[in-house]
Amino acid sequence: MTPAIAADEAGAKPQEVEAVVSNIKNHAEFTPYSAPLKFEPKAAYTATAESVRDSLIRQWNLTHQELARKDPKQAYYISMEFLQGRALLNALGNLDITNAYAQALKQLGYDLETIADQEPDAALGNGGLGRLASCFLDSLATLNLPAGGYGLRYKHGLFRQSIDKAGQHEEPENWLEMGHPWEVQRHGIVYPIQFFGEVQVGENGKRRWVGGEKVLAQAYDVPIPGYKTKNTISLRLWSAAVPAEYFQLEKFNNGEYEEATKAWATAEQICAVLYPGDGTEAGKLLRLKQQYMLCSASVQDIVETFLDRRPEGSPVNWSEFPEKVAIQMNDTHPTLAAPELMRLLLDREGLGWDEAWGIVTKTVNYTNHTVLPEALEKWPLAVFSKLLPRHLEIIAEIDKRFIASLREQHKSASKEELADLISRLRILGGVLSDDEKELGATQNGGEPPKQVVRMANLCVIAAQVVNGVAQIHSDIVKNETFNDFYKMWPHKFQNKTNGVTPRRWLKFANPKLSAVISKWLGSDEWVTDTTKLTGLRKFADDKKLHEEWVSAKKAAKEVLAGYIKDKIGVTVNPSALFDIQIKRIHEYKRQLLNILGVIYRYKQLKAMSPEERAKVVPRVVMFGGKAFATYTQAKRIVKLVTDVGSVVNNDAKIGDLLKVVFLTNYNVTVAETAIPASELSQHISTAGMEASGTSNMKFALNGCLIIGTLDGANVEIREQVGEENFFLFGITADEVPIARKEREEGKFLPDPRFVEACDFVRSKAFGDYDYQPLLDSLEGNSGFGRGDYFLVGRDFATYLEAQKKVDEAYLDQDRWARMSIMSTAGSGVFSSDRTIKQYAEEIWNIKPLKVE
Ligand SMILES: *Cc1c(COP(=O)(O)O)cnc(C)c1O
Repeated sequence: MTPAIAADEAGAKPQEVEAVVSNIKNHAEFTPYSAPLKFEPKAAYTATAESVRDSLIRQWNLTHQELARKDPKQAYYISMEFLQGRALLNALGNLDITNAYAQALKQLGYDLETIADQEPDAALGNGGLGRLASCFLDSLATLNLPAGGYGLRYKHGLFRQSIDKAGQHEEPENWLEMGHPWEVQRHGIVYPIQFFGEVQVGENGKRRWVGGEKVLAQAYDVPIPGYKTKNTISLRLWSAAVPAEYFQLEKFNNGEYEEATKAWATAEQICAVLYPGDGTEAGKLLRLKQQYMLCSASVQDIVETFLDRRPEGSPVNWSEFPEKVAIQMNDTHPTLAAPELMRLLLDREGLGWDEAWGIVTKTVNYTNHTVLPEALEKWPLAVFSKLLPRHLEIIAEIDKRFIASLREQHKSASKEELADLISRLRILGGVLSDDEKELGATQNGGEPPKQVVRMANLCVIAAQVVNGVAQIHSDIVKNETFNDFYKMWPHKFQNKTNGVTPRRWLKFANPKLSAVISKWLGSDEWVTDTTKLTGLRKFADDKKLHEEWVSAKKAAKEVLAGYIKDKIGVTVNPSALFDIQIKRIHEYKRQLLNILGVIYRYKQLKAMSPEERAKVVPRVVMFGGKAFATYTQAKRIVKLVTDVGSVVNNDAKIGDLLKVVFLTNYNVTVAETAIPASELSQHISTAGMEASGTSNMKFALNGCLIIGTLDGANVEIREQVGEENFFLFGITADEVPIARKEREEGKFLPDPRFVEACDFVRSKAFGDYDYQPLLDSLEGNSGFGRGDYFLVGRDFATYLEAQKKVDEAYLDQDRWARMSIMSTAGSGVFSSDRTIKQYAEEIWNIKPLKVE
């Protein structure tokens, strides 16, 4: 799994190695989690991690001191997800002590690789959004920026995926089973979190939220080291605990154990899992509780830090708050940070509405991650008012004032126009405005009210800056999704194209290719300044570089082939073209387009003569990704991929010409193994539907060519690497609505090759599993009445043509090597260092503060 540590790195000094050996031994002896005297790999991993943590803590304390002393403006990144993956090799690499540890472990009888493989992935996230948050932390630390992250410490991260004849199964993941050596519980950092209850009005008109349920948010901090800098920042994860007074000792002594410990069980639920099912009202309440706990604890902590750093004795000047604090809400999940800050300022600190609102709107910022209307978060008013009655009052007041400002701004609009605008933009959806009532509208056409809190609208209204995550996505946000808001506040809207950390995704994951890059560029400065990668362009035709480049790629392909043999039991030829699509399984990402293409290829191969077959480029097509537990259509796609694999991989006539592999349990570690070995990767979403994508960046950075649509960051990647180094196909985002309309009107005639591929599945060539619902979704008669909504049939023909160009290009290995080099050379822009610099300068207004 773990890449071999690059042999050409300078060896460590013997004294250094000795010190590490004794430090590891010390931890094994004095913090023994396993049976004493046994130094098995797991125990060795824990002792090693703790020893590395010692080094981190030293730097971490220095960073804290420096921040407390200088009191700079600080940015806080709040996210429901952090997809951290493993920490050991990343920490060693960032601290630049990998070799000392590799040699020390040798003396203790272990390979560093074996020890690193003991670490479970910290998978507190689903996919791209969570991994983005983790890449951002790495860049924040590396750029010496005063910042930190806030998240939840889920007991069980994203489920573990297993595959059998019936398809995907989900098993609970248990990353904390062996303890988590990278975290520190901060016993002194605990905040009360209230739920339910009611609002009381005091004599002075002051409103107070009383009663209900209380839990404690307990801080667990994870150190995030920067690369070759002392700056080490924190990811603070909250876990729910119970106030001591909730333990009912009397009941317990009476033998009423369940009753006595009820509060424990309730609190435990909050951080039990990431994204609990929200099909029931109980499920919705739990999810909202999670969001509120994350926001309330984080905002209380931010306010506390602000107050702590004021000079003692002097009155607090709240207008300074936005000069010291910037909050970033990663998608709408942390929206409650805005009304929670309002509540603290109004109810606890006694500020007036205008002053409090002025502070909030200068402090919070919102990153949008989706333009799919069904994915914009909404909460039923009934659930919301039950759990957070005071926040609903605050939101209703924000809504009321917002409507008033709309009326003010649109004095010349007709009554109908105004009513329409208000009903679309206001925060409380399904609630009639006075204008609508005047026009004689009835609630929801007389149906029971479906009143909701629209979190995205609240975000846009409260945020100082709203950003999209790739240029095309930000344009859609401005011109479509939030166009009315954009017309009101054009200055609020920005683009911040995503990025990935070049440390984890190139330097550490692909040490061989990194060594080649550093050699040809004459230094490894590219690791912190990826614009330097463009320097590779001038060697793109150098045969010597080609040789080294291809040999580094080949080494990574061999590692992946070994992994596939070990874990999946399929033998693949490392000389074949490695074609990879790894990402969450979703209809819009169109794994179905990929597999139907594979099915067509297989059918063609079968029909060929041996002479024709001898000219074919052998391919291994790899898929990986998890389908959300309740997303049946996505699970059917997984099933189809694995069924196709079973047939194709065992077809003697086809041999090595085509293999189809499903990489089970896709996570950060699997990505780190697969991406360095990739030659072609598929980013083939329906145009306009993928906000950015970040795995496309990881692949391009590793010299992998992309076959893709003009969607998300693909557009910018193609510009950077050059269109001749990108396999483009498919209709554009502008053409999508037209194509859907044609489809609805029955004007679209599918390509015969598409019909052939679908018919082949229908013929039970891949088993007798019921694929009808999947095939139906591609035709006119899907359950949603939106046949082939994702336009798989529409893009199939151009997709096959692009694949043909891939095969042709691969036949010319020099040409392919050149394209691969150009891909890495052009990918420097997609470093999260660039993205974070832009957030720091254009949104947060924070400056580096380097710890000396
Ligand atoms: C990068 C990454 C993602 C995002 O992939 P996309 O293809 O951009 O959706 C998801 N999961 C993991 C584990 C990743 O590393």
